[in-house]
Amino acid sequence: MGLLTIGAFAKASGLSQKALRLYDELRLLPPAHVDPLSGYRWYAPEQLERARLVAWLRRLGMPLAGVQEVCALDGPAAAARVATFWERVEADTAERRDLAVFLIGHLSGKDSVMSDSTHHSPLGIRYAALSDTGLVRESNQDTAYAGSRLLAVADGFGEGGAPASAAAVEALKHLETEDVADGGLLDLLKDAVDRAGEAVRGLAGAAGGSPAASPGTTLTALVWTGSRLALAHIGDSRAYLLRDGELFRITRDHTLVRSMVDEGRITVDEAASHPQRALLLRALADDREATADLRLQDVQPGDRYLLCSDGLSAVVAEPEVREVVAGVADPQRAVAELVALANRAGGPDNVSCVVADVMELPVPQLQP
Ligand code: MG
Repeated sequence: MGLLTIGAFAKASGLSQKALRLYDELRLLPPAHVDPLSGYRWYAPEQLERARLVAWLRRLGMPLAGVQEVCALDGPAAAARVATFWERVEADTAERRDLAVFLIGHLSGKDSVMSDSTHHSPLGIRYAALSDTGLVRESNQDTAYAGSRLLAVADGFGEGGAPASAAAVEALKHLETEDVADGGLLDLLKDAVDRAGEAVRGLAGAAGGSPAASPGTTLTALVWTGSRLALAHIGDSRAYLLRDGELFRITRDHTLVRSMVDEGRITVDEAASHPQRALLLRALADDREATADLRLQDVQPGDRYLLCSDGLSAVVAEPEVREVVAGVADPQRAVAELVALANRAGGPDNVSCVVADVMELPVPQLQP
């Protein structure tokens, strides 16, 4: 079979002639022959496979630089590159969906978030936090904090993991006292998480240890303004919501095994025993992607939140966690029982829990 004209090649490959001219300029798909007199481009039939791959990747929305990379790789490496690209697209979409849901509610004036017109009593939270070394580790690198506006769990790792988790939570504490306009809450939280990341990376620079042991931390935090609740999350600590007796996990682990489950490469059961199950794709650390998930949570009186480090979630099954969270009314006792559950399961890791209840505050009565 002879060479194909650009028109015939465009038709066979599903790429436009304009795109083919661009890919020639970028050396992504140069023609087999260019007529020196007329400048006409001619393509070989063997080039169709590459052209179709380029067309598919473009249809996937992959930028040209990524397409160029994939084309230069062999089968398995190219597949891995596409998988990584898609994982990022899905994470972006999930975050934008949350923001879109919030904006739709906000602009239509139908926020599911509390407002005075629907509820007569103001809402407050009552809370407790507890962090424990566990039965195996020599020191506690977790940090747990609960205050009237800020709830946070951070799980430090590497050399100097304890200062890292403490620094991350410390960087959020100004939210306890700062007056926050509801509309600016997510921006404020994003800035605070960015500063937490800077603080942790500052520790890494100061320590100057080996990169393999450089400190980092997870961070899962809720900020309550008195009318709105916002969540920030990075890493594999978790947040759960108990509502109407059901326990919902409201964060997604930023781990390698979680992404492998999402891609269908392993099952949830295989993930639990995978040798690299603790490997974090995202964290506040020098060498990890530091993008936190941020979103607003709708709030109802009676909601109970649980934040915990993987020292609980990795060793205690969710039904057992639910039993304590749903059954123990006092937050202080609930966190103590959750920590005890982890230690009864061997306590292999530091364990931290924060429990917070959303409740209607008594309305102050005016004296006659
Ligand atoms: Mg841990």
